Amino acid sequence: MMHEAASMTGVKKSVIKYRIEVAQKNEPTEKEKAMEKKNDYQQSAFKKYGKVCVLCGFGIHDIVEIAHIDGNNKNHDLKNLVPLCPTCHKMLDVDLIAPDTIKLIRDRPRKANWDKLEKAAQKAAEAGKVSARMHPDDATIWRSGG
Ligand SMILES: [Zn+2]
Repeated sequence: MMHEAASMTGVKKSVIKYRIEVAQKNEPTEKEKAMEKKNDYQQSAFKKYGKVCVLCGFGIHDIVEIAHIDGNNKNHDLKNLVPLCPTCHKMLDVDLIAPDTIKLIRDRPRKANWDKLEKAAQKAAEAGKVSARMHPDDATIWRSGG
């Protein structure tokens, strides 16, 4: 009994020692590294394509996501990435929208000033004018840019 208790204490001590060592090194964990990588490719994609859903024009920054066109979420090639709102992202993922169509829409020249639309949408979101339960008639807030 005595011997068993002593060895348990030994194990506990080594676990504590290990945890202290890990904490002192202050190195990012695997999860943190993965998060950093995710932020990197997302920021690159937002920089290249804007922070507006390329399909429907939804532009509230906190809601727009980066989708992987080929469905492979490890393929962070910029050509494989596209900003989409959660609804359009889902439609791509379930194959309601063809990947080739998304690429065409993403890369075509635009007549509308999307920078302006994006800023208007963000401003509306910050002012609390846009909510998840917003009436479709009010959607002009981010579509008209006014
Ligand atoms: Zn959308």
